Parts: sequence; structure tokens; C-alpha cells
Amino acid sequence: MHHNTKKYDYLIVGAGPFGTIFAHEAADRGKRSLIIERRSHLGGNMHTHKENGINVHDYGAHIFHTDNKFVWDYVNQFTEFNSYINQVVANYKGDLYSLPFNMNTFYQMWGVKTPAEAQAKIVAQCEAVKITGAPKNLEEQAISLIGTDIYEKLIKGYTEKQWGRKATELPSFIIRRLPIRFTFDNNYFNHRYQGVPVDGYTAIFDKMLDSDLIDVQLDTDFFDDKATYLEEFPRVVYTGMIDQFFDYKFGELEYRSLRFESEVLPTDNAQGNAVINYTDAETPYTRVMEWRHFDQKGDDNVSILTREYPQVWDRSKEAYYPVNDEKNSTLFKQYRSEAKQLDKVIMGGRLGNYQYYDMDQVFNAALGAVEKEFQQD
Ligand code: FAD
Repeated sequence: MHHNTKKYDYLIVGAGPFGTIFAHEAADRGKRSLIIERRSHLGGNMHTHKENGINVHDYGAHIFHTDNKFVWDYVNQFTEFNSYINQVVANYKGDLYSLPFNMNTFYQMWGVKTPAEAQAKIVAQCEAVKITGAPKNLEEQAISLIGTDIYEKLIKGYTEKQWGRKATELPSFIIRRLPIRFTFDNNYFNHRYQGVPVDGYTAIFDKMLDSDLIDVQLDTDFFDDKATYLEEFPRVVYTGMIDQFFDYKFGELEYRSLRFESEVLPTDNAQGNAVINYTDAETPYTRVMEWRHFDQKGDDNVSILTREYPQVWDRSKEAYYPVNDEKNSTLFKQYRSEAKQLDKVIMGGRLGNYQYYDMDQVFNAALGAVEKEFQQD
């Protein structure tokens, strides 16, 4: 089959933010792109849809947060953001705590009221557990940073569910640092800019792709016809999995997956917060989102809640979190050096770089790739 019917300059694999920004910027420079996307919608994992007047995020809660003014100004060309500030509540066996760890959490946990009291409590707990030498695993790392109570109630169960492994079998680098604040401040992020688009995320993609120089084919997988695509297009931007591109020739990179389960309830307010984390080991899901709290939108007397269940990943499931341990990082480096030798393919995005990226980082990386590409002209 012939794919490059319109003398496209670029084939772009994936209609997530990386691919979409590239197509938009290429069009601004007079270049023509065909985007192919194997899902039946735009936006990659940022995709949202509207249901009962509520913007539902299809791949988990997405809050845009950044310190990068350039990226913030860029994304604001395509949408307006509301003033949403992420303030997560943790539910541990029915007791509620504020996240991230701050004076509210310490008061709820220990009844302490001043920063000095909270600091003393944490120091005493860290000293009570004698960890000699560098922390050998995630459990030792967490306890040496925050003490036993917060580790046991707010970190252990959640992390073990998320990674599907005991905290004593997880590497310590997963929590190199922990956000700890000695102020009464529940803002989950430290960044200067934060919010959720007033019309959902998908509208951003519609706007970016609104150009005569861009065509989009949904439900189209690059691997159904890889050789022809590579032959026919002068340049290819690939945002799929890097190991799949090379037919897994060095082996398979590992991921964690997620399953989402939604329910519609006849109420305006079921849980009183946008996100509640379940930090015990027994509850099978890690968090519950109530979408109308992200932008105060929705029809009367209806609320949509989504539970997020961590899952073992295999090729039949969506790849969400890369497992950046030593084995996988070494494997990735092998693929990356192969990728560098391809002269017509630009690899990017979270799957192309086997990297957990927040949205602002993907925006920044895509704009960087654009700059590099068009310098060569
Ligand atoms: P993607 O969005 O994954 O897009 C890649 C696209 O390529 C996909 O649509 C895929 O279907 C398509 N594709 C892959 N292979 C092929 C193929 N062979 N053929 C055709 N198409 C293909 N970031 C934040 O900043 N804030 C948050 O609060 C936040 N929350 C998150 C919550 C969860 C649960 C997850 C998983 C991620 C979250 N993120 C968040 C990260 C955010 O989703 C990513 O930064 C962003 O989506 C990455 O963009 P991308 O273009 O690299 O990849």
C-alpha cells in the first residue's frame, strides 16, 4: 500500500503531545505531516472525554504543573487553565491524612503542633531504627528519611501495590528524596504554574492539529507496515516503544501497567476531593479520582469516580511506568545507541526514551527536537 500520497515531509507515529507538538511546529514552518495513531483518539495519555458535562481523564489524573515559563506560555496558547491546586488526601484503614507530608500530616499522625515538635518526632523515629551504612532498599531509605509511622502508614502499602514488589526488594533510588514540609501547606507540587485545562486536554490537540498541512489517521499501527512507512517518508518521528521499533532484538524492556475502573454515582460530591490515595496494602487500588472536583464542571446530581489498579505489564497491556532499574537501563542504552545510527528517524516521548516524563517535560523535549530539526535547514 502506498502511504505517502501527499508528498508529506514527515510521518509522525503517535498523536500524544510529543508527536502533536512536532506536527504543529512543522506546519508552522510550512512542512506537511501525516500522523498515524494506533488508538482511536488523539492526545496519547493526556486524552480526556466529556461525559455528563464532566471532563474525564482516560489515563489517570493529569495535572499540568511546571516551573518552566516557556512551556507554560506555550501550552497557554492552546487552552486556558483553571486554578486547580492538587491537594491529595490519604486514606489508611479509614484514617485520613494530608499529602504531601506536611504540618497537617504530622498533626494528624502525632498531634504535634509546631515545626520543632514535628522535626523532633521524625529525628527520634529515624534514630530508633538503626540503619547502618547506605540504605540497602526502599524500606531502609524511606525510614531513614521520615521514620517508621509515616513509612508504615503512608508509603509502604502504596509503593508495594504500585510496583508489585516488597519494599525490601525495591531499590532505594525510587525515593531518593521525599517531599517533606514543615508548613501547613497541602499543595502537592512545588511548581510555580499549575492547573487543569478548562475544556479538558483533548481540545488542546484539536487546536494544535487544525492545519491543512496535517493529516491524522487513527486506528493505524506503524508496525502493520513498518518497512513501507520507513521507505516512503523522508523523515519519521517515532513516539512508540523503542524496543518494539527494533523488534525486541536485545530483549524486552519492562513496564508497570494500570487498569482503570469507573463508576457513575447520583451525587454532586461523593468523596469531597479530586484524588484520594489508599495507602494500605489490602485495598487493591492505589487511588480514586472524582473528576468533577478537577474543574467544578458537571451536570447536577451526577459524579464519575475512577479507581486506579496497578497491574503486571505484558505486551497486551498499556505500558505506563518504565522500570528504570539497572537491568532495564542497560538494555535501554543498547537500543538508544542503535537509534542514534538511524539518520531519518527521530525518537522521542516517554516510550521512545523509556523515561517517565511529566507533560511539561514532554513539551520541552518536543520543542527541543523541533529546534534541532529546523536548525539543519
Ligand atoms: P503518549 O502520550 O503515550 O503518546 C504516545 C502515542 O503514541 C500514544 O497515543 C500511542 O497510542 C501512540 N503509539 C505508540 N505506538 C504506536 C504505534 N506503533 N503506531 C501508532 N501509534 C503508536 N504528567 C503530568 O505532567 N502531570 C500529571 O498529573 C500526570 N499524570 C499521569 C498519570 C498517569 C497514570 C500516567 C500514566 C501519566 C501521567 N502523566 C502526567 C504523564 C503524561 O501522561 C506524559 O508525560 C505524556 O502523555 C507523554 O507524552 P508522549 O507523547 O511521550 O506519549
